[in-house]
Amino acid sequence: MSGSVSGTTKILGVMGFPVSHSLSPIMHNAAIAAMGLDYTYVPFPIPVEDLPAAIAGLKAIQSVQGFNLTIPHKVEVIPLLDEIMPIAKAVGAVNTVKRVENRWVGTNTDVAGFLEPLKLLECGWKLRPALVLGSGGAAKAVVAACLELGCPVIHVVGRDPKKMKKFHGAMTSQLHDYNLRVHPWASIPHLLEVAGIVINATPIGMAGDPNTPITEAEMDLLPDYAIVYDLIYTPRPTKFLQMASARGLKAIDGLEMLINQGAIGLEWWLDQPVPIEIMRQALLQHLVNKAPA
Ligand code: NAP
Repeated sequence: MSGSVSGTTKILGVMGFPVSHSLSPIMHNAAIAAMGLDYTYVPFPIPVEDLPAAIAGLKAIQSVQGFNLTIPHKVEVIPLLDEIMPIAKAVGAVNTVKRVENRWVGTNTDVAGFLEPLKLLECGWKLRPALVLGSGGAAKAVVAACLELGCPVIHVVGRDPKKMKKFHGAMTSQLHDYNLRVHPWASIPHLLEVAGIVINATPIGMAGDPNTPITEAEMDLLPDYAIVYDLIYTPRPTKFLQMASARGLKAIDGLEMLINQGAIGLEWWLDQPVPIEIMRQALLQHLVNKAPA
């Protein structure tokens, strides 16, 4: 936790349901403490049906300066805010809200967070088709990011044809992206053969789940220059990323996305640079402490 709370302490937080698993308080409070600020960051457990009351109620509490949103609130919050930044409109999801002149302004820092570890790589994105596994909230941010990278085509696979059609409709109208194609899960093998980057945007392989989104034989189909990105950060690495590394492929996990989306949001709230390395170390320490012996 950050330092002591007083009558002047400003409040930040994360709304979700459930929210007790969120790692955001750990990294944000570490940064706040290091900066010596009179702020604190708390989890707000808010059931779906109570979101409108919570957004209005927090506006009345003047010490609340902003908040993050996680599952299941990233989309439902949009009509409850006063202004939506263009990136959040394009993705169709808000993960960070700031009080600006007593108005709630929403943005999306997941896209920039996802892109951050890719910026370090020198690759010809215009020659790299993207393959996104899953079509939930995170997949939307990933599609927007792949578009920003300049991937020539973005393939998204999912298991529910109705949801895939809806996803395609929503994303093409929001992003004006005509190189987005959706496919059934069974199309994965032939899409892997041409993929320049493959991203797991499903929970398959999260701690406690021994499965992988693709099989060992399917992983063999990827070109040797392919990048394999898993949004999951527990366990580190996932079995999916272990399979990639074993084949000499570049493997990236979701921890940097988590850290960077948080740091970008905190910088926006505070209007000053934030100590991202302290946020990173706080998370790494927490994950080491929680890892099974
Ligand atoms: P979500 O909205 O619930 O979407 C999950 C997607 O995965 C849906 O398309 C779902 O398909 C699909 N899926 C789930 N189980 C599947 C299975 N067994 N086979 C095939 N598809 C399956 O969740 P989300 O917010 O997008 O999050 C997805 C993952 O990204 C989670 O692991 C989350 O922890 C991670 N994430 C990481 C970060 C980060 O900062 N690193 C940020 C956001 C999310 P259906 O729609 O058919 O159920």
